[in-house]
Amino acid sequence: MKFSVLTLFPEMFESVLGESIIGRALKKGIIETEYVNIRDFSEGNYRRVDDYPYGAGGGMVMQPMPIYKAYKSVCKEEKPYVIYMSPQGNVFNQEKARQLASMEHVVILCGHYEGVDERIIEEIVDEEISVGDYVLTGGELPAMIVIDATSRMKEGVLDSNETMEVESHYNGLLEYPQYTRPVEFMGRRVPEVLLSGHHAKIEAWRREQSLIRTKLKRPDLIKKADITDKEKEMLKKVRRKRKKCSE
Ligand code: SAM
Repeated sequence: MKFSVLTLFPEMFESVLGESIIGRALKKGIIETEYVNIRDFSEGNYRRVDDYPYGAGGGMVMQPMPIYKAYKSVCKEEKPYVIYMSPQGNVFNQEKARQLASMEHVVILCGHYEGVDERIIEEIVDEEISVGDYVLTGGELPAMIVIDATSRMKEGVLDSNETMEVESHYNGLLEYPQYTRPVEFMGRRVPEVLLSGHHAKIEAWRREQSLIRTKLKRPDLIKKADITDKEKEMLKKVRRKRKKCSE
């Protein structure tokens, strides 16, 4: 899978995405990235890529032509899927990462200043994606988030002992709590069941913990989760118990 990033700051990417798991996926060739400097496609001595907004107002707007030329430079035979990172887009989530991971070539346009000229969105963009309801300075950090989360969904990116299936959001639930050595830290012991070596009991405990913490931390997710009647009953009991404790 290939990501082509259209940006004014290509040097921001290498140090973040070149490390750790994504860095290894790049080396293995499971994913490929190219960072295209939109400024290389501007005209004139000043290599200008922005201009004042029509109708006045503060800030600058990225001009459409350098972006269009940068986009054309990464297009090969098949039309790639083009994302514009934007606080006005669909909020990114695990499901979107899964969808993107099935694509061959994704182009990510990173805006800056007040954003990009609307006509470039109309001309080339398939989808606007936001990383949350807040405004960042530029689309580079959001693009890295999308590349990271999407790449992890590709087969072979995670080691065989790293399972994404139990991770938060994969199945609509949050992950169970994790512990490592030492067995005791500041008087807090690792739950006994995890030391038991009894796999069925460990699995049952993890499922229960996953449900409980989703219910407590993200009640919006538990409403949509695929859970049995027995599990619903268990969660009701937990809620009653907590209510009693706080009275
Ligand atoms: N004026 C724009 C608005 O109000 O919608 C915001 C522009 S923002 C300062 C500059 C660029 O940062 C955007 O073009 C976009 O690429 C990126 N950006 C900012 N916040 C973002 C978010 N929450 N998700 C994705 N991209 C974001």
